[in-house]
Amino acid sequence: MPRTVLITGANRGLGLETARQLALRGDHVILTSRDDASGRAAVDELARDGIPVDYRTLDVTNADDIRRIAAEFSADPRLAVLINNAAVSLHGFNSDVVRRTLATNFYGAMNLTEALLPVIADGGIIVNVSSGMGELSAYSRKLAARFSDPSIDREKLQALLDEFAAAVAAGRQGYEGWPSSAYRVSKAALNAYTRILAGELKPRGIRVNSVCPGWVRTRMGGASASRDVAKGAASIVWAATLDAPTSGGFYRDGRALTW
Ligand code: NAP
Repeated sequence: MPRTVLITGANRGLGLETARQLALRGDHVILTSRDDASGRAAVDELARDGIPVDYRTLDVTNADDIRRIAAEFSADPRLAVLINNAAVSLHGFNSDVVRRTLATNFYGAMNLTEALLPVIADGGIIVNVSSGMGELSAYSRKLAARFSDPSIDREKLQALLDEFAAAVAAGRQGYEGWPSSAYRVSKAALNAYTRILAGELKPRGIRVNSVCPGWVRTRMGGASASRDVAKGAASIVWAATLDAPTSGGFYRDGRALTW
């Protein structure tokens, strides 16, 4: 039986290339997109190369989309792999950018994952596509310690993000030790979520890892980026095809990164 793999934000960039590489390996890929026209165009592009994938509409910030997707999976067949790839990197730095960035890059990934947890197969895999930009070196020591606290849970993590939003609204983020980037904070939060989930899902044998694809030539990475999309997606594919019990880590090219 082929494994069923769901990928968010797969109409272009790294999501689309990951869909291509996994389908070529024999997985049953469900390519999702918030925009039907570009999602279906991506499916057609793969079909022209003889690579069949399924398609679903999914905006990770849309609770109805998440509910509908979760309801489609029943006990059998279960989802073998979930790849939280969708993200935005918005221009500017203000409260609105913070809200929209966290809504997609962190809450979108978390809400989708929580909704799908009951239908992810025991022994399955969750890949959170993160970024080296999420590394905690850009934070005050105090904040970095709170993010990496081994006892962090969803509540503490969300409280940290609320503090970040309040600091930005008050123009105090610099004094409080935050980096001046909503994107960075969203990925640090996603990494913390990876660790929380990895611990919780250990009894079910579900492996959860964060992956940085490197700096990749996509719309987000820009034309000057050092890597092509195939090389970037290979890091994601590595984590999506792990046959080791590796869980709760942060990797690029299969090598561990510091948080
Ligand atoms: P990209 O080309 O900008 O693609 C981002 C994808 O996310 C698009 O398909 C976009 O859909 C989708 N998306 C955005 N908001 C969404 C939402 N609310 N619901 C569903 N899909 C949504 O970027 P990329 O470079 O492929 O990035 C893929 C992942 O790699 C991201 O998590 C990014 O943070 C990470 N990453 C990239 C780089 C890099 O250098 N490229 C480096 C480190 C990490 P639309 O087409 O509708 O906008």
